[in-house]
Amino acid sequence: MYLKALEIQGFKSFPEKTVLSFGEDITAIVGPNGSGKSNISDAIRWVMGEQSTRALRGGKMEDVIFGGTARRKQLGFAEVSLVLDNADRMFQVEESEVMVTRRYYRSGESEYYINRRSVRLKDVNELFMDTGLGREGYSIIGQGKIDEILSVKSADRREVFEEAAGISRFRHRKEEAERKLERTQENLVRITDKIDELE
Ligand code: ATP
Repeated sequence: MYLKALEIQGFKSFPEKTVLSFGEDITAIVGPNGSGKSNISDAIRWVMGEQSTRALRGGKMEDVIFGGTARRKQLGFAEVSLVLDNADRMFQVEESEVMVTRRYYRSGESEYYINRRSVRLKDVNELFMDTGLGREGYSIIGQGKIDEILSVKSADRREVFEEAAGISRFRHRKEEAERKLERTQENLVRITDKIDELE
């Protein structure tokens, strides 16, 4: 698996459709201050499902959409696609390439696609789970991240190791099942109350 390409349109400082093609040998992106290097890593973070505007260096989600300049009007939506090689079938999709797309409109509407098929955010999160990529992955180490990992509670730190060990998926499923059980338990109590009332 490796990062093949990143397509950015209307995201932060990239109003035009911009395609960055990465070979297996690209290791760095260089450029002058303020030229948009961090916006590229923000785009990768964002397309993988990031919901924290703070992690995206903004105040609200709308800040990811090109906000206009003195010579150019603001845009109505941002779209980013990430193309990953899947020859080794690291991702659980049939194709040998995975393209994940996220689109966000100023109205607040979000769309997600995996290989051009419309999906939910949950599907994107599950695609990346246990791969080290994704929202809870450790593939993007931003400034201050190392300090954060060292200073968080040991339970939070364990999550990084769980992701590397490939067991996050099961923790998430367990948490989901526990929530369902709790809801079912509440429903049972309610039904028992109703039966008691009728008797
Ligand atoms: P440095 O080397 O100083 O860290 P950088 O290359 O990482 O810089 P970025 O932080 O990626 O630069 O880009 C900053 C630029 O992006 C600023 O000029 C800022 O105005 C622009 N920018 C950020 N968000 C938007 C937006 N929504 N619309 C238009 N431009 C934006």
